[in-house]
Amino acid sequence: MILIMLGAPGTGKGTVAGILSKELNIPAVSSGDIFRKAIQEKTELGKEVSGYIEKGALVPDELTIKVIESRLKEPDMENGVILDGYPRTTAQAEKLDKFLSEEGKKIDKVINLETPRDELIERVVNRRICSNSDCKTIFNLKLNPPKVEGICDKCGKELIQRKDDNEEVMNNRLDSYFKETAPIVDFYKNKGILSSYEVSQRINRMGVDVAHELISELK
Ligand code: ADP
Ligand code: ZN
Repeated sequence: MILIMLGAPGTGKGTVAGILSKELNIPAVSSGDIFRKAIQEKTELGKEVSGYIEKGALVPDELTIKVIESRLKEPDMENGVILDGYPRTTAQAEKLDKFLSEEGKKIDKVINLETPRDELIERVVNRRICSNSDCKTIFNLKLNPPKVEGICDKCGKELIQRKDDNEEVMNNRLDSYFKETAPIVDFYKNKGILSSYEVSQRINRMGVDVAHELISELK
């Protein structure tokens, strides 16, 4: 099964992808995680992408497409994948279609999460992530705080804040989302594979709730 997570930063794409990955036993691939790992390990790729990520701009298509396509060719992708953060531009979406059709595969569902902009900023600023790369559980200091400050409930490792999770960079990330990523919502809607979910405190529905609705539907 091939699932795509769509939505602005802070909607809960990573949370939903993480839960679906465990429950459906399909690996999740996050383009942002691949880039952050490369930056942390100071690889060539890390050096190329760090400037864009620090500013909240998108990494150029050519490089992003190359990185993701090579990840998608790895053997663990055979039974499917949940793509979190890719595609993010029309060029990436078109390239992905071409890549999958060459492999005789297709996207089963595009899960589009929608949250009011004012909630997104507040959420991202309060987001904390488990530093254990096998865990990566996401907490929120206001909505879903860890039981012990700074420590992951699940694995006991330290929680960290992403460098780009501050208001200034987040505003740039939102601008790139609305300008460059939002158009692919219609691209997938026109193909009839888009499902949109409102994720908002106002209706008391968070990423975890959407994930649970989806599990019963997809299992
Ligand atoms: P979020 O959705 O919260 O912004 P991600 O972890 O998906 O976080 O992405 C972090 C950053 O990595 C983005 O701001 C962008 O700079 C870069 N990035 C991730 N995925 C892509 C992509 N598909 N195309 C271009 N840049 C990307
Ligand atoms: Zn953890």
